[in-house]
Amino acid sequence: MTLIDGKKVAADIRAELAVRTKSLEEKYRKKVGLAVVLIGDNPASQVYVRNKIKACEEVGIRSFSHYLPAETTQKQAEELILSLVADKNVHGILIQLPLPKHLDEKRLLALIPKAKDVDGFSAENIGSLAMNEEGTVACTPLGVMELLKRYHIDTKGKRAVVVGRSNIVGRPMALLLINADATVTVCHSKTENLKEECLRADILVAAIGKAKYITADMVKDGAAVIDVGMNRDEDGKLCGDVDFESVKGKAAYLTPVPGGVGPMTIAMLLCNVCDAFERAER
Ligand code: NAP
Repeated sequence: MTLIDGKKVAADIRAELAVRTKSLEEKYRKKVGLAVVLIGDNPASQVYVRNKIKACEEVGIRSFSHYLPAETTQKQAEELILSLVADKNVHGILIQLPLPKHLDEKRLLALIPKAKDVDGFSAENIGSLAMNEEGTVACTPLGVMELLKRYHIDTKGKRAVVVGRSNIVGRPMALLLINADATVTVCHSKTENLKEECLRADILVAAIGKAKYITADMVKDGAAVIDVGMNRDEDGKLCGDVDFESVKGKAAYLTPVPGGVGPMTIAMLLCNVCDAFERAER
């Protein structure tokens, strides 16, 4: 079994991006910029935002952080987003979710134009993905595709099964795999015979949110198994949706948790920001 080392791939991508941002800066005499908006004091969000800002610094992306108090009104939040939309130094806008309950998340996200939506969550970007046209793709599924690519795991004509259909992981993941010529099945909580569906997969992507749910008896011999899940097991230890210990005897490729898909998400966000810069400046 080949262990897919997402930590290493993400580090390689960051090193490549450091070179790319430098040459973009030389070519356009301008820095690539990402605005990060955090509203409220959710401790997990604070950690995520810190990590994103640190990663930006590491690769030479200028970050603009905006921390607003939990009492921020819809109008104040909207004014901030609109000012970032107009700011030519800002190439990507990221609103850290979840937002305080009194704010209209959908309305705020809708203010971000396609060109600056580096999360790839907007209806326009999802539409482009569905039509296999140029646009920004959600970072986590994009990270999965990058892992497949860098480990030379062929998707063309292969049977891929995605377990999970959320807007941020499962759905875009399935579309990416379709666009990469895989034959794709999407499973979810209402799927009958999940085990049979999974057993058909050459590439199995688990994005369920249930600790160690995919067991060896659900995996075809020699499959590539990608675990997007991030859960806590009964001992409080971080674990994926795949039962790593049993599945490692069946799979040809397997991502660990932590150190698999997780580190790829921020790396792909940084790629998306650089892509947004190039599209805006070219
Ligand atoms: P989500 O919105 O809760 O979606 C979970 C999906 O799994 C839903 O489509 C649900 O089906 C399906 N599901 C739930 N129970 C199932 C079952 N018993 N059998 C088959 N399908 C089932 O979660 P998410 O945001 O997509 O995240 C999924 C996992 O990925 C979580 O562990 C999350 O923490 C992790 N994640 C990791 C990263 C990263 O950077 N590595 C990023 C995002 C998410 P229904 O649609 O029918 O409810």
